[in-house]
Amino acid sequence: MKINEKWLETAKEVEKELSEKGVFQRLEDIAFRNQMRVMDAFREFQVSESHFCPTTGYGYDDRGRDTLEEIFARVFETEDAIVRHNIISGTQALCIGLFGILRTGDTMFSVTGKPYDTLDEVIGLRGEGMGSLKDYGINYKEIAMSGGDIDIEAMKKQLLEDSSIKMVYIQRSKGYAVRPTLSSEQIGKAAQAAHEIRPDVYVFVDNCYGEFCDEHEPTYYGADIIVGSLIKNAGGGMAETGGYIAGTKKAIELISYRLTTPGIGKEAGASLGQTKLMYKGLFYAPHTVCQALKTGVFAAKLFEKLGYDIYPIAEEERHDIIQTITLGTKEGLLGFCAGIQAGSPVDSHVTPEAWDMPGYADAVVMAAGAFTSGASIELSADGPVKAPYTAYLQGGLTYESGKIGILLAAKIISEQE
Ligand SMILES: *Cc1c(COP(=O)(O)O)cnc(C)c1O
Repeated sequence: MKINEKWLETAKEVEKELSEKGVFQRLEDIAFRNQMRVMDAFREFQVSESHFCPTTGYGYDDRGRDTLEEIFARVFETEDAIVRHNIISGTQALCIGLFGILRTGDTMFSVTGKPYDTLDEVIGLRGEGMGSLKDYGINYKEIAMSGGDIDIEAMKKQLLEDSSIKMVYIQRSKGYAVRPTLSSEQIGKAAQAAHEIRPDVYVFVDNCYGEFCDEHEPTYYGADIIVGSLIKNAGGGMAETGGYIAGTKKAIELISYRLTTPGIGKEAGASLGQTKLMYKGLFYAPHTVCQALKTGVFAAKLFEKLGYDIYPIAEEERHDIIQTITLGTKEGLLGFCAGIQAGSPVDSHVTPEAWDMPGYADAVVMAAGAFTSGASIELSADGPVKAPYTAYLQGGLTYESGKIGILLAAKIISEQE
């Protein structure tokens, strides 16, 4: 499994080209600016050891929890936030946010096409009797993106015609769709256009995989609410579980009543000793995201050199941590994932195999050897086992370890030929 001199030489060439083009420098500049905002917030709120003390029971007066939520709001340049270890995933954070805002008769309006697959049941596009938005009489409609951006004219038309629209829903990352990821600024333009016509609509952003890829988050440019998972970017590879919801005072108050109960809101919730990892995660997040971005850029350039279709290209600006590599054959996809697995710190000895996952039409292969189960801020790759055999690569806690995973993947594939 060792990486031989030939591949180390190739890696050097790739890095030389990337550094000549200033690709890494640009990513490091963004990380530095985000890190400054994080450090300013830690200083402003005088974070000290007492903030890390666990609470139990109701968790009233948990200073560490309350302060962390204020810090998240400051870093995301908005008014308030919910940051909880007991939000189980990004999907649950999104679900809490949607149910917190929407009421019977309201319409949720997606302007980036169909949302991420795990929201099908939440919205009521799939399944029945589970208590979806649809079951509660909340409507859903969507428009497709156009030319890689939100179709602002089509959005405006809907907002003028349909007064039941209460929420404009935007997914920043492409996820598993074939479309570009949106920048915070693009989202901001759409948010401003929506608010010009209807100041009362909530612009709600699925921010998963996007945090700290741009210099500012969508909230800075006018989005009302952003939502994400703590085992992706915002947890910095440190948080062991959790999610966040950040936004305007009014939105977060409404959402807090869905998080706990009407009346209690954000005032309760024992932290059980998880707080320190979330502070530490936010502290690391700008850097860790940069490591993941550099890993993606390295993979893009290496596999481009090897003749594969990749997206985005190494030189392109990035707004999420996802890199796709189209391997072209089943063996190629499985070999790629085997390499990523072998380059992981945990479970490096196992070989990922294709399996039929519930809810997916095709067999899926996944490589993940993470300290935190399912954490995709850690190096991971997956893809449906069908033509054109595209791998979705993301994460990498450190650039050095990410680079090792990518080189092993390249080596395994080259030995197949
Ligand atoms: C990861 C992700 C989610 C939420 O997924 P979980 O696995 O529930 O955390 C939602 N939207 C996008 C775009 C994502 O990448």
